[in-house]
Amino acid sequence: MDDLKFGTRNKRGDWAPSAHAEIAPFWAWPPQISKVLKWLVGYIWPWNAFHMATTLLYWYYIIPGVETMKTLSWDWALWLYAVNGVGIFIMYGAIEFFYYFKRRQGSRFKYNARFPADNPSDVFWFKSQNIDNFLRSYVFGISMWTLVEVLMLWAFANGYAPWLSWSEHPLYLAFLVFIAPAIHDTYFFFIHRAIHWPPLYKWVHSVHHNSINPSPWSSLSMHPVETFIYHGVAFLHLIIPSNPIIGLFQLHLAGYGAVNGHIGFDKLELTEGATLDSHAYLHYLHHKYFEVNYGGDGLVPLDKWFGTWHDGSKQSQAQMEARFEQKVARMNAKKN
Ligand SMILES: [Zn+2]
Ligand SMILES: [Zn+2]
Repeated sequence: MDDLKFGTRNKRGDWAPSAHAEIAPFWAWPPQISKVLKWLVGYIWPWNAFHMATTLLYWYYIIPGVETMKTLSWDWALWLYAVNGVGIFIMYGAIEFFYYFKRRQGSRFKYNARFPADNPSDVFWFKSQNIDNFLRSYVFGISMWTLVEVLMLWAFANGYAPWLSWSEHPLYLAFLVFIAPAIHDTYFFFIHRAIHWPPLYKWVHSVHHNSINPSPWSSLSMHPVETFIYHGVAFLHLIIPSNPIIGLFQLHLAGYGAVNGHIGFDKLELTEGATLDSHAYLHYLHHKYFEVNYGGDGLVPLDKWFGTWHDGSKQSQAQMEARFEQKVARMNAKKN
């Protein structure tokens, strides 16, 4: 597929989309119904539907019975760790295998023309971004995800949190499912903004930012404190009246959903004519410029409201540069 029909490539070979990212259309006034309906389809299909499908598979085939979950034990904790590990290996591994190892579409639709495997660097374990990111994902990322999962399910099983039933509260619970991605975006924006505070950045978040040119293995490659807080979004379902299936869905949006910002390609070519949109550009720009796009992809446009939105346009670029200049000026003024 000709990616230059959809974007431009600079001298370095980096590709950028011509269409600029937009916030979700329901924030616009007056409402444009046809735009909202089109957006709604993309909101559900395919990514959030996929996360709901894995959630249901877990609930019916993986998650142990309530009696078992009343007691914390290594047995079911390690079982969940293994399933999460295999799930991530299949999902992230498939994208890595076809698009980064086999390079089936070369660098078409790739934001950064270079591949991490071609650029050894001292900042990574074994000088390899791939090995470093993979190991950190399994040692810290998936283990902290599983810890949050176990604690949340244990709390539900013991009645420490209100467990609403689907038969008594169908509309409220359906609404919670529907807004779970917005809960994720809002929560992620604030914790992410917090760990960009210089002392926390240095101690915690810099690990994730070592990958300036992220690939799927970068998604969960974080400091253990970050990955615990990041997946901790599921604990909100112990505070608001909810249901463990929705808590689990929230966790899958975080764990499996982390890949979206780190695919590195704007579109994955599936067949000759069919592509899958990655929704990765805004978070790619975050990895490139650090102080823009702390949130998701405009579902809850907190970046817009806080002045850190970068949609890929020249105007956003100029705004960001002006902010950086002001920051340098402020720092210099402090020194004098
Ligand atoms: Zn990232
Ligand atoms: Zn960051």
